[in-house]
Amino acid sequence: MDGTLSQDGELTPDSVAKAVGKENKSLFTIPSVVAMRPPALCEGCGHRDMYVTLTQVLKEEYPTHKVFSDIGCYTLGASAPFNAIDSCVDMGASITMAKGAADAGLHPSIAVIGDSTFTHSGMTGLLDCVNESTPLTIIISDNETTAMTGGQDSAGTGRIEAICLGLGVDPTHIRVVVPLKKNHEEMKQIIREEIEYRGVSVIIPRRECIQTLSRKKRSK
Ligand code: SF4
Repeated sequence: MDGTLSQDGELTPDSVAKAVGKENKSLFTIPSVVAMRPPALCEGCGHRDMYVTLTQVLKEEYPTHKVFSDIGCYTLGASAPFNAIDSCVDMGASITMAKGAADAGLHPSIAVIGDSTFTHSGMTGLLDCVNESTPLTIIISDNETTAMTGGQDSAGTGRIEAICLGLGVDPTHIRVVVPLKKNHEEMKQIIREEIEYRGVSVIIPRRECIQTLSRKKRSK
């Protein structure tokens, strides 16, 4: 609490070493000629189209919004040029934090989670929202794979809608869209409609991870 360590962000070897009065003796030093290359969503990724549309709607029409995100490729929506998410704590925290914010009166309260993370630890949060008819919008950005760990199927591959239905989400508020530039206006309209609906809504932008897709093509 005295500011020695930041209260948010990540703990790094350097910051921890400094806090305990040690020196972090790095085994490797990065030559100055090497440019910094912060991680970014792949060019052409469906998460990009989702974030472009979401941030446009929220910034232009809902200035009081907050977006609670989760752990996956889509966490990179925190970085420029999107600057799209306000929190990322742990797997599943997007829905539970968005629920807490909605319960406290925030509108719109948006959760962004991936298909794999949703079936890892997002489903219980959704059930809680359904049980209490919480007014929030959950975006399950479905890349049809577990991209971060190499492209395995998730427990929900091919049945995200069925899981949402089974947990009790009103079928008229489970909206599927293909996140492509040509569908930008359609996606904007869906986001608007579901934000205006004061209950549990799930939007599923679905487009396969282009890395998984190209691996499949190469192996044929
Ligand atoms: S690995 Fe796949 S899901 Fe992840 S950023 Fe790249 S294209 Fe998108």
